[in-house]
Amino acid sequence: MSDRAKTAVASARFGMGLEESRAASRTIRKSAADRAAANLPHETARLTLGWEVYRRWLDGLPGGCLNIAHEAIDRHVAHGRGGREALRWLAKTGDRRSYSYADLKAHTDRFARLLSDLGHGRGARVFALLGRVPELYVAALGALKAGGVFSPLYSAFGPEPVRARMTIGEADILITTAADYAKKVAPWRAELPSLRHVLIVDGAGIDGTIDLAATLALTEPAFELVATRPEDMALLHFTSGTTGRPKGAIHVHEAVVAHHATGRLVLDLHDDDIFWCTADPGWVTGTSYGIIAPLTNGVTMVIDEADFDAERWYEILERERVTVWYTAPTAIRLLIKAGAELAGRHDLSRLRFMASVGEPLNAEAVLWSQDVFGRPFHDNWWQTETGGIMIANFAALDVKPGSMGKPLPGVEAAIVTVDGEEVALVETPMTVGQLALRPGWPAMFRGYLHEEARYAACFKGGWYLTGDLAMRDADGYYWFVGRADDVIKSSGHLIGPFEVESVLMEHAAVAEAAVIGVPDERAGEVVKAFVTLKHGVEPSETLRKDLLGHARKRLGAAIAPRQIEIRPELPRTRSGKIMRRLLRARELGLPEGDLSTLETVA
Ligand code: AMP
Repeated sequence: MSDRAKTAVASARFGMGLEESRAASRTIRKSAADRAAANLPHETARLTLGWEVYRRWLDGLPGGCLNIAHEAIDRHVAHGRGGREALRWLAKTGDRRSYSYADLKAHTDRFARLLSDLGHGRGARVFALLGRVPELYVAALGALKAGGVFSPLYSAFGPEPVRARMTIGEADILITTAADYAKKVAPWRAELPSLRHVLIVDGAGIDGTIDLAATLALTEPAFELVATRPEDMALLHFTSGTTGRPKGAIHVHEAVVAHHATGRLVLDLHDDDIFWCTADPGWVTGTSYGIIAPLTNGVTMVIDEADFDAERWYEILERERVTVWYTAPTAIRLLIKAGAELAGRHDLSRLRFMASVGEPLNAEAVLWSQDVFGRPFHDNWWQTETGGIMIANFAALDVKPGSMGKPLPGVEAAIVTVDGEEVALVETPMTVGQLALRPGWPAMFRGYLHEEARYAACFKGGWYLTGDLAMRDADGYYWFVGRADDVIKSSGHLIGPFEVESVLMEHAAVAEAAVIGVPDERAGEVVKAFVTLKHGVEPSETLRKDLLGHARKRLGAAIAPRQIEIRPELPRTRSGKIMRRLLRARELGLPEGDLSTLETVA
């Protein structure tokens, strides 16, 4: 991003900055009782904390080995806590199932044994394309026990995103449903020779697949957990870039040190907590904090299979007596829309701590939660690449509504400017720059699969550059400004324009396509596409609708464009790149920035 463009972003967001400094005067002070009860009770406690200490909070395995699933499940059973409820699953239908830590150990041992019987051991790439059903959680932890690498795919993906990720990730084995297999995998399976087995959770007799339940019933229950090394690959999370294919961010078993510590210090998990992370494991939050952190901390986690519904959510919070709740701004905006009156009909007195991640959480939402729940949402910041929470509003820290909070003890964060290879610190408070982190924390991604240059480009001058623009105030609180690139963020999903454009281009009528994000009250942003048509094709409303349908079918509703505009031409640079930035600026009436490379004006 050019400096001019950066300035444009900064000035475009300046109004928001003013709003936030107004909100800062409405700081929410924590009571002495809140502070005393918090796992990180006061600022000075930070001085004694860091990665060495966090590492000692875990058990580890002999010989310096470390395995996420061991820390999440087996060690609790070994310490006599196997009877504690680990997982409480709420089905869409109203059914519910409960699993103790001992149950989870038995299920994951058996699943790991099945993988190993099928010949999938250390390093096997285990993909899941499932909704939030118990099999997903058993597969994730069982795969880690077997020494495999787990890669969760969001179940709303259409066939193209599934195929791209499984191909890049060289999937060895997939666990999915009969319907998703038939629709999203079977048509191209022959072109992915690495994919040796497909486990089906709800169907028998499907050609070329294994009936999971029946096979597990015949599998020996015992399994000796594979002693993985801290640097062994454990998780593969896909995230989208501005150009090119989705990136597979590599995480290792050592990441569990950060998951555990942030579960304890940021989400403030205590032994007796009932914790609900509403994120889907297809997004990194749903794995780091919807599977690993709650289990390593030995709490009970609630999993809801259903999609968002305000009434249902309040019922869950009340009935399940949820004490710690981790959700996202999109959902919070919908709850605000549903009204405080609905919240008031429920007894939410059990709720002790509420946190939010994924997008900027506006000051108004924090103040709303303080009014309605009597406690604020605690915003925190991280990304797929950081693997765990880096900056947060901690339980004992006063909340400045609109701010992301302060770095986790052990995390060194800074605001920097980048000029070529030069990285300079921005010391002046409330000055926009790029958010940077000092490399070396355990959950830091270890690479983008098969893309070394892309990985290397994330590090400069001894810093990891996050690609986000932010500011730090005089008290050390961080304030989010915006993303420094074109990636679209919709309802918690990062959407790369390239992926959407490629699918639009598959349509016989389309010559070229460019997509941008446009602000949306509910989703944060939604995808808007601009297309030009092939020679001789006439634009029409029927064609536009056909394109919308095509994109939806191929990409799934979460990623497909909501709006498509047919244009005679698209703006492009002299080197042939479509200028999405310009399309967006014009769409939103923002400054157009540097147009020196513009070739065609549309
Ligand atoms: P993902 O890798 O999908 O988790 O997306 C990471 C990106 O989401 C970050 O780089 C930010 O742009 C955005 N993000 C995450 N948390 C926050 C937050 N608390 N405030 C503002 N933006 C956030």
